[in-house]
Amino acid sequence: MIAVAVFNLEAVRLPKEANELRRQVRSFLRQELANGSFQPACDAWLGGFSEPFSKKLGDMGFVGMTWPREYGGHERSGLERYVVIEELLAAGAPVAAHWIADRQMGPLILRHGSTEQKQRFLPDMAKGISYWAIGMSEPGAGSDLSAIQARLTPVDGGFRLRGQKLWSSGAHRCQYMVALCRSADPGSDRHQGLTNVIVDLSDSAVEIRPIYLMNGEHHFNEVTFNDVFIPSAMVIGELGDGWRQVTEELAYERSGPERFLSTFPLLRSLSALLKDSAETYLQREIAMLVSELWSLRQMSLSVAAILNLGDNPVVEAALVKDAGTRFERKVTEVAERVARSMEGLPGNDSFQTLLAQAILHGPGFTIRGGTNEILRGIVARGLGLR
Ligand SMILES: Cc1cc2nc3c(=O)[nH]c(=O)nc-3n(C[C@H](O)[C@H](O)[C@H](O)COP(=O)(O)OP(=O)(O)OC[C@H]3O[C@@H](n4cnc5c(N)ncnc54)[C@H](O)[C@@H]3O)c2cc1C
Repeated sequence: MIAVAVFNLEAVRLPKEANELRRQVRSFLRQELANGSFQPACDAWLGGFSEPFSKKLGDMGFVGMTWPREYGGHERSGLERYVVIEELLAAGAPVAAHWIADRQMGPLILRHGSTEQKQRFLPDMAKGISYWAIGMSEPGAGSDLSAIQARLTPVDGGFRLRGQKLWSSGAHRCQYMVALCRSADPGSDRHQGLTNVIVDLSDSAVEIRPIYLMNGEHHFNEVTFNDVFIPSAMVIGELGDGWRQVTEELAYERSGPERFLSTFPLLRSLSALLKDSAETYLQREIAMLVSELWSLRQMSLSVAAILNLGDNPVVEAALVKDAGTRFERKVTEVAERVARSMEGLPGNDSFQTLLAQAILHGPGFTIRGGTNEILRGIVARGLGLR
């Protein structure tokens, strides 16, 4: 008999403080929009890299929100943070500079890093001035991370790192990367012998080469480590603990509202354009999208609540990302279908710009952070089906 597990997705109520916080973020965003500090964009959490904007958010206390005060954090709950990030995403604000540090690398260092690492790195992350890249994928290792080849070899005082990372978002503008590396041969378990290290990207032995998108945007990189010296103090946690750390990280990486809000500015623009349309079937399509969005938000909030309690909902996070990224694409498909009938309508220009961004970035939605095929495998395992 197949043992079918039940997903742990309880309904969540946001705390009262969240309402005030939401008002603050909205008022900040209104002001920034009025100042012309940004234009709403699709996928701005990955493509909208603005150091001044991230610093402003840091100054407002909107980065490192859940971290201890002693490391520059603000000791707010995960659900309060959720409200802030969903507002930023819904506005299409340029949050890419600090996004990875705030979502992933800060929490990783907080859980597994040394006191020295926490003191050295977390305060600047929380100020919105320290930017971090993810160094997981390699030319021969994406879905199967245990195949990575970047190699740490012990030397006096630390390690020598040799190897290559691929698709490293924003690495050309970040100060640091957390790189998953092989510190020992795998043996019978390929997940063993992996270690996370902090790499200073300004080191002259680190070579960062651009991989351009087809419109010329520079977002991705190929990062080569030519015998980079990694001091022992830059190893995160224990040697060989990398797989466990990465698996934990992925629940944060996969479950947040960025996994279904990347095309929200397009959805908002589309619904504004169709508000007074006589084509009720189009309005019905928008209504269906909005109701799906609402369900996804509830699922994602439930995962945030579990993470807030310190648990690691790997399967639920995979479910949110699979369904959420398919939704992001669906928004683009509906927008593409109705785009021709929008011509000449006021607001059409910004709609077309958002649509172009969504089309261009769309292929990555279901690939980055783990492809949907891989996620479904995780969900199937969680259900006891494999
Ligand atoms: C926009 C974007 C940003 C990214 N940013 C980063 C970053 O900052 N840092 C980083 O490290 N990586 C980053 N990546 C890389 C991303 O994580 C990998 O592309 C992804 O994990 C897939 O790996 P791969 O490209 O090697 O494809 P492969 O693993 O080669 O997969 C190719 C195809 O085979 C399928 N497949 C593979 N294995 C299985 C299986 N066991 N069962 C079923 N199907 C399978 C996959 O689903 C996919 O369709 C980014 C990718 C994108 C698109």
